Amino acid sequence: MTATGSQLLHSLSHRALNTKESQIREASRYCVKYGAINLAQGLPDFSAPEALKAAAQAAIEADYNQYADTWGLAALRVSIAAKMLRDNQVTVDPETEITICCGATEGLNIALMTLIDPGDRVLIFEPFYENYIPNLVTVGGIPEFLTLQPPNWEITAEMLEPVFQKGLKAVIINTPANPTGKVWTRAELELVAEFCDRYNVYAITDEIYEYIIYEGEHISMLSLPGMIDRTIVVNGFSKTFCVTGWRLGYTVANPTLTAAMRRIHDFITICAPTPLQHAALTAMSFGRSYFAQLAADYQRKRDLLYSALKDVGLSPILPKGAYYIWTDSSVLAKDSNLAALRLAQEAGIAAVPGNCFSDPNREQVTGLRFCFAKKDSTIEAAVEKLQTFKL
Ligand code: PLP
Repeated sequence: MTATGSQLLHSLSHRALNTKESQIREASRYCVKYGAINLAQGLPDFSAPEALKAAAQAAIEADYNQYADTWGLAALRVSIAAKMLRDNQVTVDPETEITICCGATEGLNIALMTLIDPGDRVLIFEPFYENYIPNLVTVGGIPEFLTLQPPNWEITAEMLEPVFQKGLKAVIINTPANPTGKVWTRAELELVAEFCDRYNVYAITDEIYEYIIYEGEHISMLSLPGMIDRTIVVNGFSKTFCVTGWRLGYTVANPTLTAAMRRIHDFITICAPTPLQHAALTAMSFGRSYFAQLAADYQRKRDLLYSALKDVGLSPILPKGAYYIWTDSSVLAKDSNLAALRLAQEAGIAAVPGNCFSDPNREQVTGLRFCFAKKDSTIEAAVEKLQTFKL
């Protein structure tokens, strides 16, 4: 770029200035620098299901290559509605209550754009998925944090009361959760639902790890009495079907909320990738055995990595769902960035520093997140490295 091309003619927006680089993606980059094994970013290093690859190729060959219906392929919305009834005990209308979008990431953004005005407060449970803050910054929302404590990351009425009293517009819930692996219990969801009802608050529930569960059960907020009017479910294909690069997600919400989200979605991305929506129909036809195998495979990987982290002297928390292990990192370094750097340089393993899952104003965070959505051979190589690493 020329010298003039890199100069600013005018100040950038607050939105741009307040959006930091993703530390998760950054960790992947320094993996390359130190030749470390990448247990940082939440993406599988193994193949997507063969049937899906074939279906995507066939869809392109069949010339499903132009814009799809903005709301999403009708047949795909119908299959999502069927899944919602079968697995979440919720009846939804595919015509008016489901929108296919570009990943859960777009789903979260259109949900926030639909509900949040500048200055509106949104409750986020810490540690939280990194994207929630930049997504909220984009719409001018103000995060209100509630910090959960390991190992159970419990929610209580005493914790909720003061923060709801401040006046919230929405609460973001992620179950099963990244990075903690917390699976919200029915009692906890009911408690939050009761507060949402009492204080007139919306719930945005990110359920992208719905099928990756080792203990407990997945309960969709939408299935709780009274929550249909105040819940937006965000979900997607990335994690369940190992296709994070396909950028396919969806939202489920009542017709009024959906109509608003659809208008925004239309002008942001028009539609999710057409051939991949056709291929996703094949994914939706996978039977229960697919989900059981997915969870069993991840459980094996979880157990392998968990033991190695424990043996090296860290204090990992056994996750009940999703595909991450959270551990305190104070034995490695005072601060999580230094702990992650030390692990990459000395043990040859990249993890994500805990501060990107925490209140940005927090002085010091001591936590690391390890992703085990990796081939057994990758995890075994990481375990070997951990076995020779001295704290
Ligand atoms: N929500 C959570 C909790 C995640 O962990 C991720 C990805 O890591 C996403 C959403 C993004 O999902 P998608 O690939 O569908 O945009």
